Amino acid sequence: MASPKRPQHFYDQVKDKFREERDLRLDYRPPGTDQFTSDFSGDLAKYAVDPYAKDVPSRETISDEVEVLFIGGGFSALLTSARLRERGIESVRIVERGSDVGGTWYWNRYPGAACDVVSYDYLPLLDELNYVPVNHYSRGPEIFNHCQAIARKYNLYDLAVFNTTVTETRWEESDQLWHIKTDRGDEMRAQFVICANGTLAKPKLSAIAGMESFAGHSFHTSRWDYDYTGQNLEHLKNKVVGIVGTGASAVQIVPELAKVAKEVFVFQRTPSSIDVRDDWPTDPNWARKLEPGWQNKRRSKVLAAVENSLEKRAAKGASSPEEKLKKQENANIDYMMRIHKRIDEIVDDPVTADSLKPWYMFMCKRPCFHNEYLPSFNLSNVHLVDTHGQGITKITPKGPIFEGEDYELDLLIYATGFEVQQTGIYNDIVGAEGVNLQDKYADGIRTLLGIHTAGFPNLFIMGGYQASFQFNLTEMLQTQGDHIAACIDYVRANGHHTLDVSDEAEEWWVQEVIEHRGKTSRSEECTPGYYNFEGNEQRRQDGNYNGGFRQYFEHQGLVREKMQKNFRLAPRKT
Ligand code: NDP
Repeated sequence: MASPKRPQHFYDQVKDKFREERDLRLDYRPPGTDQFTSDFSGDLAKYAVDPYAKDVPSRETISDEVEVLFIGGGFSALLTSARLRERGIESVRIVERGSDVGGTWYWNRYPGAACDVVSYDYLPLLDELNYVPVNHYSRGPEIFNHCQAIARKYNLYDLAVFNTTVTETRWEESDQLWHIKTDRGDEMRAQFVICANGTLAKPKLSAIAGMESFAGHSFHTSRWDYDYTGQNLEHLKNKVVGIVGTGASAVQIVPELAKVAKEVFVFQRTPSSIDVRDDWPTDPNWARKLEPGWQNKRRSKVLAAVENSLEKRAAKGASSPEEKLKKQENANIDYMMRIHKRIDEIVDDPVTADSLKPWYMFMCKRPCFHNEYLPSFNLSNVHLVDTHGQGITKITPKGPIFEGEDYELDLLIYATGFEVQQTGIYNDIVGAEGVNLQDKYADGIRTLLGIHTAGFPNLFIMGGYQASFQFNLTEMLQTQGDHIAACIDYVRANGHHTLDVSDEAEEWWVQEVIEHRGKTSRSEECTPGYYNFEGNEQRRQDGNYNGGFRQYFEHQGLVREKMQKNFRLAPRKT
């Protein structure tokens, strides 16, 4: 971010406005995540149905034993499986709720789906698959295809079980194996279990009064109903469509709806920040010249660049912490003012333009990047319904109501997001001595590296809290996958059967997480969103490790250097 360029009172006024807008939202909402529901039972059951699993085949129940079992078949499982295969581990099973691998990219097939991380960094295992992405940014179908290609290359389909939800994962001391129950009546056993259920996997709905009564069609963005909309949305030509929410999913969907639907109503509670998102095809000459190992080299360079800039900033160090913070905040506000200016330049109607302006610091919410979202609001069929922080609170059989106005819709799309970084969604995890993981976490999350938790031998967690957080999630998951594969390899190579983190190692990591959390009050000052637990106060250990990605990666290596000290390792009891 560039150096601040306005008088201080300007920044102070903007900060006051940020506070006002945050307080407005907090006053409207039930606290924290209470405003949402992800219990899709009864009248809400239809929102959980998988529209992509046509004709789920019936099958015999499974009661067998594998060496490694993944709960979930997204990038976490795929990346780690690749590393397990490279280490000669054959018996690997993915159990997946969807009807294929892909995780996020299996479920999120809405029109316009694409990734905001540069494809050469986001798509993993490009060297291994000898694949170069088609564009600078990948679209959803390319990423989904890449997931399938990884599964094929590493023979992960052989033992995979789809259309199956794990409901219980219980450690049995009698045979020292995990016993896995599913909604299809299976009772599988595994030596190692990896919770690979994704960071944003379980859809949630805003709990809006009367939503069950809506007489039109409705679905969540992660369950797009192409039978209703048509593959190219052609069935929407004569339909009035509403979309609740304006986060990253809606930002990609609205331009697609705008091109086709008769009318589009966008129900906004808080606007996203929308920056430029240019894309271009991969240069074939560049692709041709790539040498083996290019992706790893590229990743190391990106990491080194981050570290260098951190070092340079630290070296500047002459100013006090307060001065530094102020400088950072002012530069952040300048960035947000540029986002505002961009809106004024693009959106014709000044009232709509004002409504689209986000009033919070950059990174309080997940930043969005799109070149077509803002211009959509210049089309005569697209209407922004700005609820000024309140949100939609009532839905009738006709559609949402706001300020006494009934919005009569044929289709209502919920772009209301997902549960965040939960371990064991749909699934009860019960460790040694019958302890339920959620009960263990009730007094605060306790892990080593966000991956191991004491009392849960041979269980590994991916993408959960107390791990590092990266905008490029696959990069973080790859380090976890490499670490997990190395741990499993160590257990096998040294004649052990179980690995359980020591209490001391776990305590050390909990303290590391606490020490690096919340050095500023920035998070509490943010407008509510899933980055700050919807504005709820949080125990300091119940979040991500903020000590830096490079440090997180290095800690993994250091932990593995002292396996005997950090873990209780034991042979199989006879
Ligand atoms: P989000 O949780 O980011 O957004 C939910 C939206 O619903 C918010 O705008 C929220 O408003 C709004 N909302 C909730 N309740 C109401 C209500 N009652 N009335 C009106 N609005 C309401 O979910 P998304 O699915 O958009 O995104 C989830 C995450 O998935 C992203 O943050 C990103 O990490 C990932 N993603 C990445 C993409 C990419 O790489 N391009 C694309 C899509 C998703 P409020 O802000 O006020 O809470």
